[in-house]
Amino acid sequence: MRIVISDYAWPNIDIEKEYFKSKSVDLDVATGKDDLINKIKDADGLLFCFEDISEDVLRSGKKLKVAQRYGIGVDNINIKVATELGIVVSNIPDYCIDEVSDHALSMILAINRMIAPDSKMVKLGKWSDVKKDNRVYRLKDATLGIIGFGRIGRRLAYKSKALGLNVVAYDPYINEKSYEGVNILSFDEVISSSDILSLHVPLTDQTNHLIGDKELEMMKKDAILINVSRGGLIDEVALSKYLDNGKIRGVGLDVMEDHNPSASNPLFKYENVIITPHTAFFSQESSEELQIRSCKQLYDVLNGKIPKFLINPDVLDHSDVNLI
Ligand code: NAD
Repeated sequence: MRIVISDYAWPNIDIEKEYFKSKSVDLDVATGKDDLINKIKDADGLLFCFEDISEDVLRSGKKLKVAQRYGIGVDNINIKVATELGIVVSNIPDYCIDEVSDHALSMILAINRMIAPDSKMVKLGKWSDVKKDNRVYRLKDATLGIIGFGRIGRRLAYKSKALGLNVVAYDPYINEKSYEGVNILSFDEVISSSDILSLHVPLTDQTNHLIGDKELEMMKKDAILINVSRGGLIDEVALSKYLDNGKIRGVGLDVMEDHNPSASNPLFKYENVIITPHTAFFSQESSEELQIRSCKQLYDVLNGKIPKFLINPDVLDHSDVNLI
Protein backbone atom coordinates (compact mmCIF):
# COMPACT_ATOMS: atom_id res chain seq x y z
CA MET A 1 0.00 0.00 0.00
CA ARG A 2 1.07 3.58 -0.65
CA ILE A 3 -0.07 6.80 1.00
CA VAL A 4 0.66 10.27 -0.26
CA ILE A 5 0.51 13.41 1.90
CA SER A 6 -0.23 16.54 -0.14
CA ASP A 7 0.64 19.06 2.60
CA TYR A 8 0.64 19.52 6.35
CA ALA A 9 0.79 22.45 8.79
CA TRP A 10 3.11 21.20 11.54
CA PRO A 11 6.90 20.97 11.80
CA ASN A 12 7.32 17.31 10.86
CA ILE A 13 5.46 14.09 10.05
CA ASP A 14 7.27 11.81 12.52
CA ILE A 15 3.90 10.56 13.82
CA GLU A 16 2.75 9.61 10.32
CA LYS A 17 6.11 7.97 9.48
CA GLU A 18 6.06 5.85 12.62
CA TYR A 19 2.42 4.85 12.21
CA PHE A 20 2.66 3.77 8.58
CA LYS A 21 6.03 2.07 9.12
CA SER A 22 4.39 -0.08 11.77
CA LYS A 23 1.76 -1.08 9.18
CA SER A 24 4.33 -1.62 6.38
CA VAL A 25 2.70 1.10 4.29
CA ASP A 26 4.87 3.30 2.03
CA LEU A 27 4.58 7.03 2.61
CA ASP A 28 5.36 9.83 0.19
CA VAL A 29 5.06 13.61 0.54
CA ALA A 30 4.23 15.84 -2.42
CA THR A 31 5.86 19.22 -2.95
CA GLY A 32 3.14 21.21 -4.68
CA LYS A 33 0.26 20.47 -6.99
CA ASP A 34 2.20 19.11 -10.01
CA ASP A 35 4.16 16.75 -7.81
CA LEU A 36 0.92 15.66 -6.12
CA ILE A 37 -0.68 14.86 -9.48
CA ASN A 38 2.34 12.72 -10.27
CA LYS A 39 2.64 11.00 -6.88
CA ILE A 40 -1.05 10.29 -6.46
CA LYS A 41 -1.10 8.11 -9.60
CA ASP A 42 -0.28 4.90 -7.73
CA ALA A 43 -1.39 5.91 -4.22
CA ASP A 44 -4.14 4.06 -2.33
CA GLY A 45 -4.76 6.85 0.15
CA LEU A 46 -4.35 10.62 0.39
CA LEU A 47 -3.87 12.78 3.48
CA PHE A 48 -4.49 16.47 2.75
CA CYS A 49 -4.61 19.68 4.77
CA PHE A 50 -4.94 23.03 2.90
CA GLU A 51 -4.10 21.85 -0.66
CA ASP A 52 -6.89 22.20 -3.21
CA ILE A 53 -7.94 18.63 -4.02
CA SER A 54 -9.53 19.49 -7.33
CA GLU A 55 -10.98 17.29 -10.04
CA ASP A 56 -7.63 16.89 -11.87
CA VAL A 57 -5.92 15.67 -8.69
CA LEU A 58 -8.67 13.15 -7.97
CA ARG A 59 -8.79 11.87 -11.56
CA SER A 60 -5.02 11.30 -11.44
CA GLY A 61 -5.46 8.95 -8.48
CA LYS A 62 -6.13 5.84 -10.52
CA LYS A 63 -6.02 3.54 -7.47
CA LEU A 64 -7.14 6.10 -4.90
CA LYS A 65 -9.66 4.73 -2.39
CA VAL A 66 -9.69 7.36 0.35
CA ALA A 67 -8.95 11.07 0.81
CA GLN A 68 -8.64 11.95 4.50
CA ARG A 69 -8.73 15.65 5.44
CA TYR A 70 -6.37 16.68 8.21
CA GLY A 71 -9.03 18.84 9.85
CA ILE A 72 -12.72 19.76 9.92
CA GLY A 73 -13.57 21.84 6.82
CA VAL A 74 -13.90 19.97 3.52
CA ASP A 75 -14.38 22.98 1.24
CA ASN A 76 -11.03 22.31 -0.50
CA ILE A 77 -11.94 18.95 -2.04
CA ASN A 78 -14.31 18.28 -4.94
CA ILE A 79 -16.66 15.92 -3.09
CA LYS A 80 -18.93 15.37 -6.09
CA VAL A 81 -16.09 14.08 -8.26
CA ALA A 82 -14.64 12.01 -5.41
CA THR A 83 -18.01 10.29 -4.93
CA GLU A 84 -18.39 9.68 -8.65
CA LEU A 85 -14.92 8.05 -8.71
CA GLY A 86 -15.67 5.89 -5.66
CA ILE A 87 -13.22 7.76 -3.41
CA VAL A 88 -14.19 7.91 0.26
CA VAL A 89 -13.81 11.38 1.80
CA SER A 90 -13.43 11.64 5.57
CA ASN A 91 -12.46 14.26 8.16
CA ILE A 92 -11.91 14.69 11.92
CA PRO A 93 -14.75 17.03 12.96
CA ASP A 94 -14.25 17.02 16.74
CA TYR A 95 -10.54 17.47 17.41
CA CYS A 96 -9.87 21.22 18.01
CA ILE A 97 -13.15 22.62 19.33
CA ASP A 98 -11.48 24.15 22.40
CA GLU A 99 -8.60 25.64 20.43
CA VAL A 100 -10.82 27.35 17.84
CA SER A 101 -13.34 28.65 20.37
CA ASP A 102 -10.43 29.92 22.52
CA HIS A 103 -9.04 31.67 19.45
CA ALA A 104 -12.33 33.42 18.69
CA LEU A 105 -12.67 34.46 22.34
CA SER A 106 -9.06 35.71 22.41
CA MET A 107 -9.78 37.91 19.41
CA ILE A 108 -12.95 39.28 21.01
CA LEU A 109 -11.07 40.14 24.21
CA ALA A 110 -8.04 41.56 22.39
CA ILE A 111 -10.10 43.82 20.13
CA ASN A 112 -12.44 44.97 22.89
CA ARG A 113 -9.52 45.79 25.21
CA MET A 114 -7.43 47.39 22.39
CA ILE A 115 -4.52 45.08 23.31
CA ALA A 116 -2.57 45.24 20.02
CA PRO A 117 -2.78 49.01 19.30
CA ASP A 118 -2.14 50.02 22.93
CA SER A 119 0.84 47.67 23.19
CA LYS A 120 2.20 49.15 19.97
CA MET A 121 1.90 52.69 21.38
CA VAL A 122 3.75 51.69 24.56
CA LYS A 123 6.62 50.18 22.56
CA LEU A 124 6.83 53.39 20.52
CA GLY A 125 7.48 55.26 23.80
CA LYS A 126 3.98 56.74 23.79
CA TRP A 127 2.68 55.37 27.13
CA SER A 128 1.03 58.67 28.10
CA ASP A 129 -0.38 59.27 24.63
CA VAL A 130 -2.83 56.36 24.76
CA LYS A 131 -6.13 58.20 24.79
CA LYS A 132 -8.94 56.94 27.01
CA ASP A 133 -11.56 58.24 24.59
CA ASN A 134 -11.35 55.20 22.37
CA ARG A 135 -14.05 52.68 21.67
CA VAL A 136 -13.76 50.32 24.64
CA TYR A 137 -16.97 48.99 26.13
CA ARG A 138 -17.90 46.78 29.07
CA LEU A 139 -18.08 43.24 27.71
CA LYS A 140 -20.53 42.12 30.39
CA ASP A 141 -23.25 44.34 28.90
CA ALA A 142 -22.64 43.23 25.31
CA THR A 143 -24.43 40.78 23.03
CA LEU A 144 -22.42 38.13 21.20
CA GLY A 145 -24.13 36.82 18.05
CA ILE A 146 -22.98 33.43 16.79
CA ILE A 147 -23.73 32.44 13.19
CA GLY A 148 -23.56 28.64 12.97
CA PHE A 149 -24.36 26.93 16.25
CA GLY A 150 -22.41 23.70 15.81
CA ARG A 151 -19.55 22.31 17.85
CA ILE A 152 -17.33 25.42 17.85
CA GLY A 153 -20.18 27.96 18.05
CA ARG A 154 -21.64 26.19 21.08
CA ARG A 155 -18.29 25.92 22.85
CA LEU A 156 -17.72 29.63 22.29
CA ALA A 157 -21.19 30.37 23.71
CA TYR A 158 -20.44 28.31 26.83
CA LYS A 159 -17.15 30.14 27.46
CA SER A 160 -18.60 33.58 26.66
CA LYS A 161 -21.47 33.17 29.08
CA ALA A 162 -18.91 32.80 31.88
CA LEU A 163 -17.79 36.36 31.02
CA GLY A 164 -21.36 37.60 31.37
CA LEU A 165 -21.98 38.11 27.66
CA ASN A 166 -25.55 37.82 26.41
CA VAL A 167 -25.32 35.16 23.68
CA VAL A 168 -27.72 34.75 20.74
CA ALA A 169 -27.31 32.50 17.72
CA TYR A 170 -28.57 31.68 14.23
CA ASP A 171 -28.48 28.20 12.72
CA PRO A 172 -31.00 27.10 10.07
CA TYR A 173 -30.77 23.50 11.29
CA ILE A 174 -31.94 24.28 14.84
CA ASN A 175 -35.70 24.57 15.18
CA GLU A 176 -35.93 25.33 18.91
CA LYS A 177 -36.28 28.95 20.10
CA SER A 178 -33.67 28.38 22.77
CA TYR A 179 -30.83 25.84 22.70
CA GLU A 180 -28.39 25.16 25.54
CA GLY A 181 -29.51 28.42 27.19
CA VAL A 182 -28.91 30.53 24.08
CA ASN A 183 -31.75 32.31 22.26
CA ILE A 184 -31.98 31.17 18.64
CA LEU A 185 -32.97 34.11 16.44
CA SER A 186 -33.34 34.75 12.72
CA PHE A 187 -30.23 35.59 10.67
CA ASP A 188 -31.24 39.26 10.37
CA GLU A 189 -32.02 39.53 14.09
CA VAL A 190 -28.60 38.17 15.06
CA ILE A 191 -26.78 40.42 12.59
CA SER A 192 -28.60 43.58 13.69
CA SER A 193 -28.61 42.99 17.47
CA SER A 194 -25.02 41.86 18.04
CA ASP A 195 -22.22 43.97 19.46
CA ILE A 196 -19.90 41.12 18.51
CA LEU A 197 -20.60 38.81 15.59
CA SER A 198 -18.69 35.53 15.26
CA LEU A 199 -18.96 33.19 12.25
CA HIS A 200 -18.86 29.41 12.74
CA VAL A 201 -20.34 27.94 9.56
CA PRO A 202 -18.73 25.76 6.89
CA LEU A 203 -17.88 27.39 3.55
CA THR A 204 -20.37 26.19 0.91
CA ASP A 205 -22.07 27.73 -2.14
CA GLN A 206 -24.79 28.96 0.26
CA THR A 207 -22.42 30.56 2.79
CA ASN A 208 -19.95 32.14 0.34
CA HIS A 209 -19.98 35.93 1.09
CA LEU A 210 -22.51 35.36 3.87
CA ILE A 211 -21.33 38.72 5.20
CA GLY A 212 -21.41 41.33 2.43
CA ASP A 213 -22.64 44.87 1.91
CA LYS A 214 -26.19 44.20 3.08
CA GLU A 215 -25.14 42.48 6.31
CA LEU A 216 -22.41 45.02 7.10
CA GLU A 217 -25.00 47.75 6.68
CA MET A 218 -27.34 45.93 9.09
CA MET A 219 -24.67 45.55 11.78
CA LYS A 220 -24.62 47.89 14.78
CA LYS A 221 -22.20 50.78 14.69
CA ASP A 222 -19.06 49.91 16.64
CA ALA A 223 -19.63 46.17 16.34
CA ILE A 224 -16.79 43.64 16.28
CA LEU A 225 -16.64 40.96 13.55
CA ILE A 226 -14.80 37.66 14.07
CA ASN A 227 -14.12 34.99 11.45
CA VAL A 228 -12.12 31.92 12.44
CA SER A 229 -13.98 29.65 9.99
CA ARG A 230 -13.22 30.24 6.30
CA GLY A 231 -12.17 33.38 4.41
CA GLY A 232 -14.87 33.08 1.76
CA LEU A 233 -17.60 33.78 4.33
CA ILE A 234 -16.80 37.52 4.20
CA ASP A 235 -16.78 39.74 1.12
CA GLU A 236 -13.47 41.48 1.84
CA VAL A 237 -14.06 44.29 -0.68
CA ALA A 238 -17.26 45.23 1.14
CA LEU A 239 -15.50 44.87 4.50
CA SER A 240 -12.75 47.31 3.45
CA LYS A 241 -15.43 49.86 2.57
CA TYR A 242 -17.01 49.61 6.03
CA LEU A 243 -13.60 49.78 7.72
CA ASP A 244 -12.84 52.92 5.69
CA ASN A 245 -16.02 54.62 6.86
CA GLY A 246 -15.20 53.76 10.49
CA LYS A 247 -18.46 51.96 11.19
CA ILE A 248 -16.85 48.76 12.43
CA ARG A 249 -14.91 48.84 15.70
CA GLY A 250 -12.67 45.91 14.99
CA VAL A 251 -12.24 42.73 13.00
CA GLY A 252 -10.52 39.48 13.98
CA LEU A 253 -9.62 37.05 11.19
CA ASP A 254 -7.88 33.69 11.27
CA VAL A 255 -8.76 33.06 7.63
CA MET A 256 -8.88 35.22 4.51
CA GLU A 257 -10.33 34.91 1.02
CA ASP A 258 -6.79 34.48 -0.29
CA HIS A 259 -5.28 31.64 1.73
CA ASN A 260 -1.76 32.96 1.14
CA PRO A 261 -2.18 36.75 1.10
CA SER A 262 0.66 39.00 -0.05
CA ALA A 263 1.94 41.92 2.06
CA SER A 264 -0.13 44.29 -0.10
CA ASN A 265 -3.47 42.80 0.96
CA PRO A 266 -5.86 45.77 1.50
CA LEU A 267 -6.98 44.52 4.93
CA PHE A 268 -3.44 44.74 6.34
CA LYS A 269 -3.51 48.52 6.56
CA TYR A 270 -6.17 48.78 9.26
CA GLU A 271 -5.00 49.11 12.87
CA ASN A 272 -8.30 47.71 14.12
CA VAL A 273 -8.00 44.46 12.14
CA ILE A 274 -6.08 41.62 13.76
CA ILE A 275 -5.14 38.64 11.63
CA THR A 276 -3.62 35.25 12.41
CA PRO A 277 -2.50 32.80 9.68
CA HIS A 278 -5.07 29.99 10.06
CA THR A 279 -3.67 28.91 13.41
CA ALA A 280 -6.91 28.67 15.38
CA PHE A 281 -6.88 24.85 15.24
CA PHE A 282 -3.38 24.59 16.63
CA SER A 283 -2.05 23.42 19.96
CA GLN A 284 0.56 20.72 20.58
CA GLU A 285 -2.23 18.42 21.72
CA SER A 286 -4.69 19.10 18.90
CA SER A 287 -2.01 18.73 16.24
CA GLU A 288 -0.78 15.37 17.54
CA GLU A 289 -4.37 14.17 17.96
CA LEU A 290 -5.19 15.20 14.41
CA GLN A 291 -2.14 13.46 12.94
CA ILE A 292 -2.67 10.11 14.63
CA ARG A 293 -6.46 10.01 14.21
CA SER A 294 -6.17 10.94 10.52
CA CYS A 295 -3.67 8.10 9.93
CA LYS A 296 -5.85 5.57 11.76
CA GLN A 297 -9.08 6.56 10.01
CA LEU A 298 -7.41 6.42 6.59
CA TYR A 299 -5.85 3.03 7.34
CA ASP A 300 -9.23 1.68 8.54
CA VAL A 301 -10.80 2.53 5.18
CA LEU A 302 -7.97 0.78 3.32
CA ASN A 303 -8.79 -2.24 5.45
CA GLY A 304 -12.45 -2.30 4.49
CA LYS A 305 -14.04 -0.27 7.30
CA ILE A 306 -16.55 2.56 6.91
CA PRO A 307 -14.86 5.57 8.54
CA LYS A 308 -16.46 7.05 11.66
CA PHE A 309 -16.55 10.47 9.99
CA LEU A 310 -17.66 9.85 6.41
CA ILE A 311 -18.35 12.99 4.38
CA ASN A 312 -19.80 11.37 1.25
CA PRO A 313 -22.08 8.47 2.32
CA ASP A 314 -23.34 8.11 -1.30
CA VAL A 315 -19.90 6.68 -2.14
CA LEU A 316 -20.97 3.45 -0.41
CA ASP A 317 -23.32 2.81 -3.38
CA HIS A 318 -20.37 2.85 -5.79
CA SER A 319 -19.69 -0.58 -7.29
CA ASP A 320 -15.96 -0.45 -6.41
CA VAL A 321 -16.52 0.41 -2.74
CA ASN A 322 -16.96 -2.53 -0.39
CA LEU A 323 -16.82 -1.22 3.14
CA ILE A 324 -18.53 -2.51 6.25
P1 NAD B 1 -20.13 22.13 12.81
O1 NAD B 1 -20.48 21.34 11.61
O2 NAD B 1 -20.15 21.45 14.15
O3 NAD B 1 -21.04 23.42 12.90
C1 NAD B 1 -21.36 24.20 11.79
C2 NAD B 1 -22.77 24.70 12.01
O4 NAD B 1 -23.09 25.61 10.96
C3 NAD B 1 -23.83 23.58 11.98
O5 NAD B 1 -24.58 23.60 13.19
C4 NAD B 1 -24.71 23.93 10.80
O6 NAD B 1 -26.07 23.62 11.03
C5 NAD B 1 -24.47 25.42 10.68
N1 NAD B 1 -24.77 25.99 9.37
C6 NAD B 1 -24.65 25.45 8.14
N2 NAD B 1 -25.04 26.32 7.19
C7 NAD B 1 -25.37 27.47 7.84
C8 NAD B 1 -25.83 28.75 7.43
N3 NAD B 1 -26.04 29.02 6.14
N4 NAD B 1 -26.06 29.68 8.38
C9 NAD B 1 -25.86 29.43 9.68
N5 NAD B 1 -25.46 28.22 10.14
C10 NAD B 1 -25.20 27.26 9.24
O7 NAD B 1 -18.68 22.72 12.53
P2 NAD B 1 -17.67 23.36 13.57
O8 NAD B 1 -16.80 22.30 14.14
O9 NAD B 1 -18.40 24.25 14.50
O10 NAD B 1 -16.72 24.19 12.59
C11 NAD B 1 -17.21 25.32 11.87
C12 NAD B 1 -16.20 25.71 10.81
O11 NAD B 1 -15.00 26.15 11.42
C13 NAD B 1 -15.71 24.55 9.93
O12 NAD B 1 -16.59 24.31 8.85
C14 NAD B 1 -14.36 25.00 9.48
O13 NAD B 1 -14.47 25.62 8.22
C15 NAD B 1 -13.95 26.02 10.51
N6 NAD B 1 -12.74 25.62 11.23
C16 NAD B 1 -11.68 26.49 11.24
C17 NAD B 1 -10.53 26.14 11.92
C18 NAD B 1 -9.34 27.07 11.98
O14 NAD B 1 -8.22 26.61 12.30
N7 NAD B 1 -9.50 28.35 11.70
C19 NAD B 1 -10.44 24.90 12.58
C20 NAD B 1 -11.55 24.07 12.56
C21 NAD B 1 -12.70 24.43 11.89
